[in-house]
Amino acid sequence: MEDLKEYSNGDVTIVWQPKLCIHSGVCARGLPNVFKPKEKPWIDQFGAPSDALMKQIGACPSGALSFYTNNTKGSTTHG
Ligand code: SF4
Repeated sequence: MEDLKEYSNGDVTIVWQPKLCIHSGVCARGLPNVFKPKEKPWIDQFGAPSDALMKQIGACPSGALSFYTNNTKGSTTHG
């Protein structure tokens, strides 16, 4: 699907679905170093530690933000 953006910091991948975003600004207020609505790309996945990212993603009221972690990949250890 095109309407899905992913931002990986190598540990956790932030998934953003623009169509679901209601621009509440909850994420930008919570982690302004990560969620920057005025910039492109607007998400800086390196702006906060992974646990803070995951916590903030959980606070998104619309479900536009979600994440998956990358350390469940089994044998792929390089890259
Ligand atoms: S918290 Fe969710 S709905 Fe609100 S601006 Fe961020 S991504 Fe969009």
